[in-house]
Amino acid sequence: MLEILEMAYLAMTAEALGKCIPDKSIGSILELDLAWLSKNRIKCVIFDADNTLFPHHAKKADAKVLAFLKTLSKKYRLGIASNSPNKKRISGLDAYFKSKGVKILVSKGNRRKPCPDQFDYLAKAFRSKPKECVMVGDNLFTDIAGAKLYGMKAVKVKPYDPKSEPMYFMFMRLVEHILS
Ligand SMILES: [Mg+2]
Repeated sequence: MLEILEMAYLAMTAEALGKCIPDKSIGSILELDLAWLSKNRIKCVIFDADNTLFPHHAKKADAKVLAFLKTLSKKYRLGIASNSPNKKRISGLDAYFKSKGVKILVSKGNRRKPCPDQFDYLAKAFRSKPKECVMVGDNLFTDIAGAKLYGMKAVKVKPYDPKSEPMYFMFMRLVEHILS
């Protein structure tokens, strides 16, 4: 309960609202601007999972996404920070991506974005400063504001498949629409 209150507080403070402006907005992760990553001296690219890498609650990425991640992993350290309550599915992504030839570390932070735990876990695991990391995600409050509050850059993607989301996401999407 305290965690939910803290998340609500973080998402609603004026500071957090000011952090809801992404550094870049793109259609999908495939449009990630590699020149922009270089220009900003990014070393680590951290992805949200649901509706960023694949549809909500999926377990696998499609061939184009896999190929892109494989290319990206040659130059950048890659991570996943997810709020999914299905810990087994999320922890299984480690093995799934590894089996596809992509080294991508899944966060083991206990609390949920926008709390700093998952960002902190990955930045420390990658021995990187927050400013050397970029968070890529579809959610303005958990992914974008969370990462920017922690000091990371943030890139907003359009939801991979909005129809795959549970109904209760509609309210969040409506507020996102008003803010953007
Ligand atoms: Mg998401």
